[in-house]
Amino acid sequence: MNIILLGPPGAGKGTQARHLVDGRGMVQLSTGDMLRAAKDSGTEMGKIVAEVMARGDLVTDEIVIGLIREQLETVKANGFVFDGFPRTLAQADALNDLLSEFGQSLASVIALEVNDDVLVSRIVGRAEEARAAGQPVRSDDNAESLKIRLMEYYKKTSPLLGYYHAKGLLKSVDGLGDIDQVKGEISAILEG
Ligand code: AMP
Repeated sequence: MNIILLGPPGAGKGTQARHLVDGRGMVQLSTGDMLRAAKDSGTEMGKIVAEVMARGDLVTDEIVIGLIREQLETVKANGFVFDGFPRTLAQADALNDLLSEFGQSLASVIALEVNDDVLVSRIVGRAEEARAAGQPVRSDDNAESLKIRLMEYYKKTSPLLGYYHAKGLLKSVDGLGDIDQVKGEISAILEG
């Protein structure tokens, strides 16, 4: 079973993806995590994406599609949870093609719905928590980058809601609840 978690920055995609894979033999594929790893490892690609990410812009389709292809080619799993991918219509089309190439399909696209005020306070809170714990703060978890990340979401990613709705795959979940509540709603959709 392959699932996409769709939602704006701070909606809880990463947290829910981690819960979802737990005990199901599924694997979380987060392009954000892959790009941060590339950045930290100082590869050529990492250097290219570091500035783009810090600004809050989207990395090119070519780069993220390449990262996903690599994972689908090498990782064996009882399904994937796509977290933060696709983020553009071109990525969504590429994912369709990749899944068919590997003889797979999409079971559901789960949209986490959270209003902008909550997103901003969650992300600012995430940065403050990391700072207080002496952990590294994401270079894009600041008010300026967040404004751009939200704009990128509305311009380029939110059209995917209509795209997957038209394919009959979209399920919406209220992402405002606490983590367990949201987790329960998602499980009910997947099992129902
Ligand atoms: P995330 O961890 O999903 O919030 O992603 C952090 C940043 O990585 C985003 O703001 C983008 O700069 C970049 N990124 C992650 N996934 C993608 C994607 N699918 N397409 C383009 N850029 C991405």
